Amino acid sequence: MDEQELQDFKKAGQIAAQVREYGKSLIVEGAKVVDILDKIEEKIIQLGGGIAFPAQISINQIAAHYCSTENDETIIKKQDVVKLDVGAHVNGFIGDTALTVNLDGKYKDLLDASESALNEALKKIKPGVCVGEIGKIIQETISKKGFQPVKNLSGHGLGKFQIHTSPTMPNIELKLSSKLKEGMTVAIEPFATNGQGKIQEGGMATVFSQINEKPIRSPMTREVFQKIKSYNGLPFTTRWLTKEFGEGKTRFALNELLKVGNIYGHAPLVEVKKGIVSQHEHSLIVTKDGCIITTKLN
Ligand code: MN
Ligand code: MN
Repeated sequence: MDEQELQDFKKAGQIAAQVREYGKSLIVEGAKVVDILDKIEEKIIQLGGGIAFPAQISINQIAAHYCSTENDETIIKKQDVVKLDVGAHVNGFIGDTALTVNLDGKYKDLLDASESALNEALKKIKPGVCVGEIGKIIQETISKKGFQPVKNLSGHGLGKFQIHTSPTMPNIELKLSSKLKEGMTVAIEPFATNGQGKIQEGGMATVFSQINEKPIRSPMTREVFQKIKSYNGLPFTTRWLTKEFGEGKTRFALNELLKVGNIYGHAPLVEVKKGIVSQHEHSLIVTKDGCIITTKLN
């Protein structure tokens, strides 16, 4: 990364951090999830960023990838465990960050488990450390608090216009030999649960990524695909398309694009034992003797 790219990465992190805190302030009893998500995405643009992926609010046993359609009536309840995951980019350099809110405080210990795991992991980041070591710290911190880490979700490297690159940053101890190196850009995201510690896909995908550019037969789908290509391979959501093209046309196009293999759907991820899940996430760059956490509010 050159100096300009580093500045872009830092700026994206600060936008994501501001938007995360703004989003947190909108999570109040009775608020509509889709309204919060719309406001968060508007704020990213206002602050001079691009949307790295659709803002997501996943509640209770849903660990990740829940993104409202336009007509989603889901509202925030005070007992909900609400994960807010946001991403902003500047010239393709990404800040990816998440927090969890539980308004009535009943799951305070669960939230504390994923937050402490993130903080402990961040303290250990420096060149030469094996990614499995970081996973071990996350696992131990969450286990000590009496919960399970979600073992089949992990953090990841951050590339230009790429949200998930190597290295994989596991949330459990794994014999992975890859080591952190100076200059690596990474997101760490521990998930803690009172369930089994495993997620599976559940429900309809509303988040998609373009993965191919095969020719399309129908003019209607071609038109929608033009729009999708403008996202530069970054994930997008159904709601963005229905606002522009309407419900019917969007559904038709997404189905055809899925069928030809031009897009991939990221379905909601649900804890297998319906356990409640919390998540905390920061993005960082590895430095000579530690790291700079770009999504920590300056
Ligand atoms: Mn995230
Ligand atoms: Mn992430």
